[in-house]
Amino acid sequence: MNAPGRGVCIACRRDRRVRADGRIFAHADPQTPGRSCPGSGELPRPVYGPLHREPRHLTAPFDAPGRSPQPYPGEGREAWRVRAAAVRRAALMQPLADVELGEFDVRIIEWLTGWEPSTVATVASWLHRAREAGRAEASARRAGR
Ligand SMILES: [Zn+2]
Repeated sequence: MNAPGRGVCIACRRDRRVRADGRIFAHADPQTPGRSCPGSGELPRPVYGPLHREPRHLTAPFDAPGRSPQPYPGEGREAWRVRAAAVRRAALMQPLADVELGEFDVRIIEWLTGWEPSTVATVASWLHRAREAGRAEASARRAGR
C-alpha cells in the first residue's frame, strides 16, 4: 500500500493514515488493547515496496502517483542530463550509506545512473528493502525470537 496519505508506523510497522503535517494518525496499540500505539503522531517509515507497477519516483514511496522528474523550465538539455544523473546516483547511494564500495561497485553505480528512473528506482527500492529486512532480522534476534 503505497498510496499517498499512508505510511508505515515506526512502532507497530503497520500501514497507517498520515495526517496533513506528515505524521501518523493516532491508532490503537495492537499489542496493548485500550492504549495508543507509541508510533501515533510520529513520522512514518517510508514504504519501499513491494512494487507492483512501474515506479515514477526515485525516493519512497516509489510507485506513488505523479510525474517522473522533469527538467526545470529553461533548463538546458545538458544541465538537465547532469542533474537527473546526480539525482539517480543519490537514489542509489542513499540505501548504500555505510556500505564499503570498491572501484568496480562505483563503476556499476555510475553505469546504473544512466538507466531510466524506473529502473534506478526499482534497484534503490531493493536496496532499501534489503536493509529493512536486515534491520528486522537483527531486532528479532535481539528480542530472542
Ligand atoms: Zn503503530
